[in-house]
Amino acid sequence: LHQAIQQGQLCAYYQPKLRLSDSAVVGAEALIRWRHPERGLIPPNQFIPVAEASDLIVDLGDWMLGEVSRQLATWRKVGLPHLSIAVNLAARHFREPRLVPHIERLLATYGLPPEALELELTESTLLETGTHTMDTLRMLRQRGIGLAIDDFGTGYSSLGYLKRLPITALKIDQSFVRDLEHDSDDRTLAATIVALGHSLGLKVIAEGVETEQQRRILLEQGCDLAQGYLFSRPLPAEDFMKFNGAVAKTTCPG
Ligand code: C2E
Ligand code: MG
Ligand code: MG
Repeated sequence: LHQAIQQGQLCAYYQPKLRLSDSAVVGAEALIRWRHPERGLIPPNQFIPVAEASDLIVDLGDWMLGEVSRQLATWRKVGLPHLSIAVNLAARHFREPRLVPHIERLLATYGLPPEALELELTESTLLETGTHTMDTLRMLRQRGIGLAIDDFGTGYSSLGYLKRLPITALKIDQSFVRDLEHDSDDRTLAATIVALGHSLGLKVIAEGVETEQQRRILLEQGCDLAQGYLFSRPLPAEDFMKFNGAVAKTTCPG
């Protein structure tokens, strides 16, 4: 994995995020992939846990932040100015004092507004919050960077942190979206997360939307954004560009 970073074997895939009300693409989630010379494309669940056990996860996260910033600058040049890209960061990374200066440097280098970047953190990250993580989150938010809680509803965290922390979005975990059509408990849970998020002034994003019925239910529940195979799988940067072009054509004719 050390070598993978040095030898340029990591790459970022982008899964489009759509606004449910009008199907406009508002951004993407960046998801890491390892193009192994012999083993082919390795998904993150096969190497992120290993990286998380050491400081490698910080190198890997720094690499993603750099790659996504570079890519965002390119997209803004070719006329996609409003995209916001989310990067997943591990708990350990939020304890790094150099995270905030690193992000500031990237935004300055690539001439990006802070809204172009969003960071996804998990509930376990919040459970591990010491004062340092808390300060880091506040500094990021003060600088205008979005902060989303990933896999919301699957952790064991208290709701108190939602009030205390400078979060901007909640992502409804895939496990609640999967059976929306057939499981009324899941429908209740999804609706509750949407209501909770909105009452706290947060955007709500549904993950893992695979069917038209799930999309319709989430739209009716007032969920703001969605991502999932129904719209698109995570795509290499070039294909994400093409996807944007295709959606723009269908949503704004002429
Ligand atoms: P996540 O952040 O919750 O990402 C969502 C995962 O769900 C992605 O898997 C995505 O490909 C998958 N997915 C999206 N739409 C659908 C759908 O409609 N159906 C189903 N069944 N799955 C869908 P992926 O890319 O394999 O990533 C898995 C996890 O690895 C991520 O979960 C995230 O926790 C972690 N990860 C990925 N990239 C990074 C990274 O750059 N840094 C860190 N620290 N973690 C990462
Ligand atoms: Mg995520
Ligand atoms: Mg997730």
